Amino acid sequence: MGLQDVIADMIRENGPMSVATFMNLALVHPEYGYYTTRDPFGEEGDFTTAPEISQMFGELLGAWAADCWLKLGEPDRFYFVECGPGRGTLMGDALRATKAVPGFHQAMRLRLIEASLVLKSKQQEQLSDYDVVWINSFHDLEDDGAPFILLANEFLDALPVRQYVFTDKGWAERVIMTDNDEKPVFGTVPASVDSLPAVAKGEIVETSPLREMFVRDIAEALERRDGAALLIDYGADYNGTGDTLQAVKAHEYVNVLDHIGEADLTSHVDFMKLRTVAGVHRIRIDGPVSQCSFLQALGIGLRAEILCKKASRRQAEDIDSALKRLTGKDEMGELFKVMALSNGCRETPPGF
Ligand code: SAH
Repeated sequence: MGLQDVIADMIRENGPMSVATFMNLALVHPEYGYYTTRDPFGEEGDFTTAPEISQMFGELLGAWAADCWLKLGEPDRFYFVECGPGRGTLMGDALRATKAVPGFHQAMRLRLIEASLVLKSKQQEQLSDYDVVWINSFHDLEDDGAPFILLANEFLDALPVRQYVFTDKGWAERVIMTDNDEKPVFGTVPASVDSLPAVAKGEIVETSPLREMFVRDIAEALERRDGAALLIDYGADYNGTGDTLQAVKAHEYVNVLDHIGEADLTSHVDFMKLRTVAGVHRIRIDGPVSQCSFLQALGIGLRAEILCKKASRRQAEDIDSALKRLTGKDEMGELFKVMALSNGCRETPPGF
């Protein structure tokens, strides 16, 4: 029995499955989910994220958090939250980089939101010098009025999307069904939806109630307590349409239904939509800006220079190539966007 059989059984019992349900099962099914069963990062894994490319990424995000903490008036207690911390690399680099900020480590209470037991144990190992508490969702963060600073890199793109297609007969939802051999295939069922953008026939529109809920929860919390949240993801800064669901295995794109639970599944994050969702709350919103512009404003160029001074020639080449991957126009620099939600900061959070 594998995840494909579990999904085929569910479809037999309950009928066609939404893309969102499928994505959720494929990624975090307790027994067979992609993240639940492995550490997917790095050369030998399936994909590489910014903190795995270079320590500079986590260090600069640490500096971002420390600067926000200063602008929040150096609260003597705050929650330092990370969503989907992967191997714990980003947080490890961020904490090393902020050791010298007087009072920051004493004030922070670390909270990690993570669905995968395999990755939780990696995080535990990586952050063994610190007191770490895992929580299941942002809802579980102590509601005691203390400010929070939250980081989420490549977390939103793993939260499920639903897909709708505009057809001759109006909107239909894209779903997973099974063919005669019990193999999962895409299909559509009629859907009654409103508030989807007008598109040409045959076009796909994605929505993500869970991403919206996550952003709404943060925005609502920021109306009640001070804090800052930094969201970084593969995304668009316009109201995009089209099918952006993608599966990646061993650094190659693969068919979404071919390696269920064995390939990473993501879709692009519609930051303009999330900006609108957050915008009904009385909080500060910055971005989306490109990752390139954000990291440059935080001084990644200077950071790379300093690292290169202490490095061998070979290491200096690696630092240079990491800098290009993180900020290059055809690499992560433009594809990735950064948005911050905050309240109570004396000035604009850095990077915007
Ligand atoms: N931020 C890390 C890892 C990104 S991969 C980095 O930049 O390297 C996505 C992370 O989110 C993984 O840690 C994964 O296990 C976690 N994740 C995915 N879906 C989740 C969910 N629904 N709830 C909690 N964590 C989730």
